[in-house]
Amino acid sequence: MTECSCLTPPFNYQDFDSKDIGVDETNGRYGSVTIETCKKCGANWLRYLVEYEAFSKSGRWYRGLIWPERATVIKPETALAELESLDWYFAGGSYFDSTGFKTSGPPAADP
Ligand SMILES: [Zn+2]
Repeated sequence: MTECSCLTPPFNYQDFDSKDIGVDETNGRYGSVTIETCKKCGANWLRYLVEYEAFSKSGRWYRGLIWPERATVIKPETALAELESLDWYFAGGSYFDSTGFKTSGPPAADP
């Protein structure tokens, strides 16, 4: 059985329908929060994207698999806690020098 492309990094934005949830400005962050729905399997992914222009290699994203009912209640300010509550999620970006790996625990989002 082959896993859906939404479970195997690197990810392609064209595989997803994206819904903008808003921006998390906690602690002066500017985290962009979106819910992405896989066009192939219908899975819902919570994506958190943050980058600090003042710091090189600061770009990072997190994406965690969530139930559809969670997708309707997540707010920008609760997105990181939602990710932390999951058994695992993907992380990647220049901060990690990675196109995606599985991890868990509190996502590092501050500069
Ligand atoms: Zn999928």
